Amino acid sequence: MSSVAKILVADDEPSVLSGIQKGLSKHGYFVATAKDGLEAAEKLAKERFDLVLSDLKMPKADGIELLNRAKEIDRNIPFIMLTGYGTKENALLAMKLGAYDYIPKPFTINELTEVVNRAVKENKSAVDDEKIISKKISSSRISEFVEFLMKKNDVVAPIARGNGNIFARLEDSKSASLEYVTTTLPPKKFLLPVEEELFKFNREKGTVESGKREIKPTVLLGIHPADMQGILRLDQAFTEGYPEANYIERRKNTAIVGVLPKTDSKSFANDMGAGDTKAGFDLFMTKVFDTYIVDILTSKGKKLIDDYDGFEELGKEDVDQAKAVKKAKMREEQSLGCQPKDIQELVKMASDDKIWKELSAKCLSCGSCSLVCPTCYCFDVTDKLSLNLKEGARYRKWDSCQTDMFATVAGGENFREHREQRLKHRFMHKFSYFAGKFGTNMCVGCGRCARACVAGINPIDVIQKLSKEYGMLLVSKVFKYMN
Ligand code: SF4
Ligand code: SF4
Repeated sequence: MSSVAKILVADDEPSVLSGIQKGLSKHGYFVATAKDGLEAAEKLAKERFDLVLSDLKMPKADGIELLNRAKEIDRNIPFIMLTGYGTKENALLAMKLGAYDYIPKPFTINELTEVVNRAVKENKSAVDDEKIISKKISSSRISEFVEFLMKKNDVVAPIARGNGNIFARLEDSKSASLEYVTTTLPPKKFLLPVEEELFKFNREKGTVESGKREIKPTVLLGIHPADMQGILRLDQAFTEGYPEANYIERRKNTAIVGVLPKTDSKSFANDMGAGDTKAGFDLFMTKVFDTYIVDILTSKGKKLIDDYDGFEELGKEDVDQAKAVKKAKMREEQSLGCQPKDIQELVKMASDDKIWKELSAKCLSCGSCSLVCPTCYCFDVTDKLSLNLKEGARYRKWDSCQTDMFATVAGGENFREHREQRLKHRFMHKFSYFAGKFGTNMCVGCGRCARACVAGINPIDVIQKLSKEYGMLLVSKVFKYMN
């Protein structure tokens, strides 16, 4: 199952941006926006997109500059130029520089979607197979490679702890454990710390100083596709609307190296379209017997390995074997028989179902499910004051919408007083509300909430139950039946 195609739209006209975002989201695309060429170039440097749509005339960097930058980062990315100045010269220059197509303004969303669909389809089949450069490294040299990475970066990787694994900053390159089922907490804790000082203040002096921020170049090593998708969801939440400076700064300084997960009975990542081994990663390592085949997916990834001499060139049989391993992994995963869109529909149909009452009778409102979730990002803000009440600091720390006081506001009103409301809200947010805003489900099927829940509440059971009850009403099923 492939993931949702990601499109970056750059235009300095807010109404055009939001119109395209809404229109393409309705057609199942994930759409990120940028209000000028510079912001778009920054997003491209940080994240992998399947297509760029750009206005020709923009402040800071125009469409042609952005096109050049996009092609430097990924020479194969389809780039569509939107031009309000539909002169043949501009369009031809863009095409000469490698644009896939150009669309003169004004255009309808249907006209745009038609070109986008075609470009994504043509590019996907090519990118999937032939355009990625890969190298190989013997698994016996992995800790030496990790050591090499540790010279210039903080390296965060899974390490064994107790009966499971946790993500930790490595002190010893040999402690990285790249073949693992999952970790207790997701890697988000290195991008969004559990607690963070935002600023210090002193009322007497009338000063405000920004909080401690020690952001070092970091490599997140051994990241599973579902956790990568989790990070991409956080990117959406923290870069759209009210950009979060600390998160963005950490993200810019982070390179991500992926690996395939070991089979996990609690995971349903492929059902959520979160099994992609390319999107977001800078490098992706697939173990084939005693060798890792390493796909180089971004210029950042290339830089990571450029000066290390342990990589060898590949033969065609290596590429084929890596593909076969990835395919076998997909087959191994369980299937709920639902597409991500189906799950959105099921949850919406069940909005007034008794299931929420039944589950809430077991739920303890402990909040663990959201704390372990790679895509939950609720936080609380508190001030810590010195005893003289004149100085202090403001902190942000993780919070959970499942706790009973979460939705309490000044005056004591609690907007989600009952456990049933909170539990239903979590499922609605994961499978419906987020998708309404960003076009993709928030849940990436990692299975951590099922593992953490002392009451045994598991999204797989919930989806299967809803599917049994409402499955025949799904648009996809009705459509299939009619055909
Ligand atoms: S809701 Fe559960 S399964 Fe989905 S991403 Fe969060 S922790 Fe993972
Ligand atoms: S982990 Fe389980 S018991 Fe705790 S709040 Fe979440 S659903 Fe309820």
